Amino acid sequence: MDPVNDDSRIRRNPLGSPVVAMIGGGQLARMTHQSAVALGQTLRVLAADPQDPAAQVTPDVVIGAHDDPDAVRGVAAGADVMTFDHGHVPPEILVELESAGVAVRPRASALIHAQDKLVMRRALAEIGAPVPPFTAVDSVEDVRRFHDEQQGRIVLKSARGGYDGRGVWMPESVEQAERIAQEQLDAGVPMMAEARVPWTRELSALVARSPFGQGAVWPVVETVQRDGICAVVVAPATGLPDDLRSAVQATALRLAEHLDVTGVMAVELFEVIGADGRPGVLVNELAMRPHNSGHWTMDGATTSQFEQHLRAVLDYPLGSTVPTAPVTVMANVLGAAETPAMSMDERVHHLGARFPHAKVHLYGKSERPGRKIGHVNVLADPGIDPDDPDQVATVRAVAEHAAHWLSHGEWADGWDPHTGPPVGDFDR
Ligand code: ADP
Repeated sequence: MDPVNDDSRIRRNPLGSPVVAMIGGGQLARMTHQSAVALGQTLRVLAADPQDPAAQVTPDVVIGAHDDPDAVRGVAAGADVMTFDHGHVPPEILVELESAGVAVRPRASALIHAQDKLVMRRALAEIGAPVPPFTAVDSVEDVRRFHDEQQGRIVLKSARGGYDGRGVWMPESVEQAERIAQEQLDAGVPMMAEARVPWTRELSALVARSPFGQGAVWPVVETVQRDGICAVVVAPATGLPDDLRSAVQATALRLAEHLDVTGVMAVELFEVIGADGRPGVLVNELAMRPHNSGHWTMDGATTSQFEQHLRAVLDYPLGSTVPTAPVTVMANVLGAAETPAMSMDERVHHLGARFPHAKVHLYGKSERPGRKIGHVNVLADPGIDPDDPDQVATVRAVAEHAAHWLSHGEWADGWDPHTGPPVGDFDR
C-alpha cells in the first residue's frame, strides 16, 4: 500500500482547508494548533503519548514515535504538508517521504542545519556568516589542540540531540575537557568544540520564509537563559543600535534563503563587543520551527510565529510582523523544585487579580522541576520607551513575578492579596 496516497486514513478538513501534519505533540504543536483553528485548518500531530500537550487539544492525532518510519509515513498520509515541532526526525525518513512526493517543510537538506551543530557551523562559515572558531572533535587530541589554540576558553558540544543546555559543557581545565570528550565519544556521541564567547547578552532573530521566497522578520529580541533554559525574552532587545539590528535581521533572512528554509527559523546569537568597542554578533545556533524566543509574538505581534509558520509552510502570503506594543516581555513558567499545594488553576486566578494584563499560556503539562509548563506575556503600555532600560525593567519585573507566581505559588516580593496594597512599584 502506498502510504502517501492511502485515502482510507485521511481525516478531511470539513472546509476543504489544508491539513498540516506536525511531527511532535509538544507545546509548539499545541500553540500551532491554536493558529490552525483560527485559520480554519486542521493540525494533525504525531504525538508520543495521548497526554502530550498538542494531543490533548487537536482531534487529529496519530500516536507514535518520531523515529518510527511507519508512524511518520502514517501522519503524512493525505496531509497537504508536513512540518515539525522539534528537530529530531531522522533525515533519512524525511528524504524518503520527499521522494514519495510529500511536501516536507523545511526540507531535510535545510533541517540538517538545525539538527547537527557541526554541519551548521561549517555551512555558516562557508557563506561568511559570523560564527565562533570551532572544530570537529574526533579524538582527545583534537580537544587538546583546540584548547591550546583558544587559551583554554572552549565549549564542548554534542553535535546532535542536545537541547535546553543538555549536550553543552564548559570545561575548566584541559583534563576535564579531555575526560568529557572521551566519555561522550565512547558513548558514540558526535562531538565538536568551539571558542567560549565572552558575550554581553544573547539575542534571537526570528524570521519566516515561504517556498515562494517571501521573507518576514520580527524585531530582534534578547533572550535570558538560566541553567541553560530560556527564562525571559525581551522584545525588542533594549538599546540595540539601529545598524546592528538591521544587519542581524538581514543576516537571518539571508541564512533562511541560503539554506532554503521554509517556515519559521530562529537564529540564536551572541552579542559581543568588538575591538573597536562597538557591539557585533556571532551566530550560536539555528532552530527551524517556532521557537521559545518567539512566544512573545502570540500577544505582542500582529502575526504570531505559530500562524506565520502555518502560512509559510503552506506557501501563503506571510502576515505582518509589526509589534502590537512598544515592548513585550515573555517569561517562562518552569516547574518548581516542589510543586505548590495550591492548584495551578487557583494560581491563574490569583495572577489575574494582581496583573489583569498578563497573558497566560499553559501547555497542559504536569509539573516537574525545571520543566517548561507555560509562559506569560506582558505587553507594555503605549508610552513606554523600548530603549530605556529602567522602563523596560518595570515590564520585565511584572512578567517575571507572574511566571514565578505560577511556578511556585508564592510572590517573590512578598505581596499578599489579603493584607494590603501591593508593595511592588510595578503595581502602579
Ligand atoms: P542548546 O542546543 O542546548 O540550546 P546552545 O548551543 O544554544 O545549546 O548552548 C546553550 C547555552 O550555552 C547558550 O544559550 C549559551 O548561554 C551557552 N553557550 C553556548 N555556546 C557558547 C559559546 N560558544 N560561548 C559561550 N557560551 C556559550
